[in-house]
Amino acid sequence: MKKVVKFGGSSLASAEQFKKVGNIIHADAERRYVIPSAPGKRFPDDIKVTDMLYACYHLAEEGKDFKKALAEIAARYQEIIDGLSLSFSLKDEFKVIEKNFKEKAGENYAASRGEYLNGIIMAAYLGYEFIDAAEVIRFKENGDFDSEFTNEILKKRLAETDRAVIPGFYGAYEDGRIKTFSRGGSDITGSIVARAAKADVYENWTDVSGFLVADPRIIKNPEGIETITYRELRELSYMGASVLHEDAIFPVRREGIPINIRNTNRPKDEGTWIVESTCQKSRYVITGIAGKRGFCSVNIEKAMMNSEIGFGRKVLQAFEEYGISFEHVPSGIDTMTVFVHQDEFIDKEQKVVSAIHRLADPDSVDIEADLALVAVVGRGMKSTRGTAGRIFSALAHANVNVKMIDQGSSELNIIIGVANDDFETAIKSIYDIFVESQL
Ligand code: ASP
Repeated sequence: MKKVVKFGGSSLASAEQFKKVGNIIHADAERRYVIPSAPGKRFPDDIKVTDMLYACYHLAEEGKDFKKALAEIAARYQEIIDGLSLSFSLKDEFKVIEKNFKEKAGENYAASRGEYLNGIIMAAYLGYEFIDAAEVIRFKENGDFDSEFTNEILKKRLAETDRAVIPGFYGAYEDGRIKTFSRGGSDITGSIVARAAKADVYENWTDVSGFLVADPRIIKNPEGIETITYRELRELSYMGASVLHEDAIFPVRREGIPINIRNTNRPKDEGTWIVESTCQKSRYVITGIAGKRGFCSVNIEKAMMNSEIGFGRKVLQAFEEYGISFEHVPSGIDTMTVFVHQDEFIDKEQKVVSAIHRLADPDSVDIEADLALVAVVGRGMKSTRGTAGRIFSALAHANVNVKMIDQGSSELNIIIGVANDDFETAIKSIYDIFVESQL
């Protein structure tokens, strides 16, 4: 058995947290490859080291004095080193960083140092080998992650060592320049390492005990999700459930490696299992509810639209011409509605409307703003009758007007459009009917 374990920033924010992580790793000899994030927040108003690095580098880039800001970052690491009673120093590393900041090595380089330095400390603390991610995670010249080349070199490198620490979040181009993933990207590194190591499980340790059925800011103490499929998770994270970076699914998914989301502060909790497929029923018909506010619907009407071949293409071309992606396109006999993100659309709306007129010659175009989308996701819906009926009667009882319905043919989710103001009520009423009333 081989486990790859990734620890998020809050799990590594202080020496005390490092000790918890050390205990977790030592409790299971199979936890062989460790991916650390940079130190995160120690308390709610604290600043993540990654954000400190961005700010410090911006000072350097503007030619301002950045020494004090860099010293504050060094102090964060020193506090961890002292708290762990380690005897080494990062002084020389900070000299190199200062020099590179002066030479404007780039924002990506700057941000990556958070994970790099934390990785060095972690390796020393555990007595594991340190592998610099710049050597094994490769980006293409166009900035895309080079998954296949990385997999090859990483596989070879891991075969040489039984236990190692590989910092998350960054890699390098062929010429050695550092490039980071988008924010939260250490999750992706963990997944890449799990794939290359052909791990049995990818454990992702964070500060919550896995995914919850609904957003705790809307539902008080929501139930946790025990098992969720990759596809269900895609739907939920797209709609705003953010525990894991969206792109972290892809590398492990190719190998069928399950991801186990765990809580560093409650290591006994089982957390959530993210799997390719399962015959385990979720506890409720639905697996999760998520949603987002801030959508607009553009309603296009034209008599006999249904028999005009190419009408849909022409309408969508108008959006494409202005670089706007659409979310959902429900249609009727004489109408077609395009859902878009309001903030992307607002500045270009009149241009898009005139392009629709120019290209598709509709009878009318009507825009409705301030809408929210709610996604009810669950593999159990396929085999359960009446799910849609229960959703809509719950919404009707809560006085929520449904403006759009979209059920994917996979029967994995039902998407409902409501007014922004009804967003929370909609989620509460769906949660009540499927979860609360079953407890
Ligand atoms: N430290 C980086 C961030 O704050 C990456 C990560 O934590 O995954 O976004």
